[in-house]
Amino acid sequence: MPGTHIPPHQSPKSSTHPPRNDHAALIDTVLHRTRQAAKRLGLDDSTQCVLERVKRELVVHFPVERDDGSFTMMTGFRVQHSVTRGPCIGGLRYRDSMGIDDARALAMLMTWKTALVGLPFGGAMGGVSCDPRTLTEAELERLTRRFTTEVALLLGPNRDIPAPDLGTSPQVMAWIMDTLSMHSGFSIPASVTGKPLDIGGSEGRMTATGQGIAIVAREALRLNGETLAGKRVAVQGFGHTGQTAARYLEEAGAVIVAVSDTSTALTAPNGLHISELMEHVARKGKLSHAKHGEKISNADLLALPVDILVLAAVESQVTAHNASSIKAPLVIEGANGPTDVAADEILAANHITVIPDILANVGGIIVSYFEWVQDLQALFWTEHEVEQKLDAVMVRAFQETSEYAHHHRETLRDAAYELAVRKVASAMAVRGIYP
Ligand code: NAD
Repeated sequence: MPGTHIPPHQSPKSSTHPPRNDHAALIDTVLHRTRQAAKRLGLDDSTQCVLERVKRELVVHFPVERDDGSFTMMTGFRVQHSVTRGPCIGGLRYRDSMGIDDARALAMLMTWKTALVGLPFGGAMGGVSCDPRTLTEAELERLTRRFTTEVALLLGPNRDIPAPDLGTSPQVMAWIMDTLSMHSGFSIPASVTGKPLDIGGSEGRMTATGQGIAIVAREALRLNGETLAGKRVAVQGFGHTGQTAARYLEEAGAVIVAVSDTSTALTAPNGLHISELMEHVARKGKLSHAKHGEKISNADLLALPVDILVLAAVESQVTAHNASSIKAPLVIEGANGPTDVAADEILAANHITVIPDILANVGGIIVSYFEWVQDLQALFWTEHEVEQKLDAVMVRAFQETSEYAHHHRETLRDAAYELAVRKVASAMAVRGIYP
């Protein structure tokens, strides 16, 4: 593409080589997988150049007043990867290590997720580099309202629709919706998703990512004529995603034998009491000191001889260092980017099936789409209707991906990336390049 400038982090020179360092940045992992998919699909260089660049990015620096009257400067981002298939949708993270490269990677992942499951969106991601646990409720509200105002020119129901992610909550979404509505002079419920039911949130949104993880687990087992009943499961990361996944898996008959968070890891061969552990975490904020199971290390949890390992913590948890210790025949990526490129190769060589993030954790964004649709129609569905619709969309996406993988003799991740990248490339081709 004449005149194309590729920034250093997106240098096409590395296009055929996996990121080499042990803890590759998420952006390198996602770019590598995207480029490999484009290459296998035979896409031309111009199309590849467009696909691997983000469409827009806004970096904002702004002061937040603390409760003691002092000010702290904050840095925030909103990155839109693609608007080819519709408005952008994507999470908002409050995390101290949040940087723009993470936002770029997560925006690109979101484009592939929405394309894979057929939602009419492109991907976005935003965030503020901060530790929300160090802020009071009032400081968090001021931060959110100021950040929303700073990036408001990008947001709106037909432009870019935020959703909760690490460190953000339905309350944060409510403040964003209220701020955008106040600036416009009328309420705009469809401007955010994952908001409370009182202001146009959807039934089933809070549990959708966990429900989706249980659905793909069920479908993967079904391929071998098996069910979840009696299957032994370990869950890394007992936060929002891990807890809801554990609950849905348990309801389907699986036995959760281990869970972990940053404070500890716990195991019980006959199964942990998930609802009691959830109550403990709700009260104490972490798993440690729960009077359940035996304490093990996080590394031990990953290496347990279970039937299913759910990775629901953060990125880059399974690498060349520890991939060969994994014994579970089925690994499900509830988190974004928990397995890096080197680990993928080791897991595949050990005949371990990985259900990739862009398929496994897409439940939340599917119900965000349902929430947006309900807000636009001002007509709301029951929890049962939402769960049924989510099940149908996820089953279709899983079947399409597994059939493609089987036909092309490749991993579910390679198949999912190819299907997603192909859909976006096709949309680009029919729209053409303006002007
Ligand atoms: P969360 O903060 O509620 O939970 C994260 C949990 O992981 C916490 O319990 C934390 O202590 C634990 N953790 C962090 N590092 C760990 C480590 N090294 N070992 C063990 N535990 C560790 O966050 P969440 O919303 O559940 O998100 C988790 C992941 O799922 C993220 O990658 C996020 O992007 C992804 N995700 C979330 C949603 C959603 O709807 N919340 C949707 C899709 C994907």
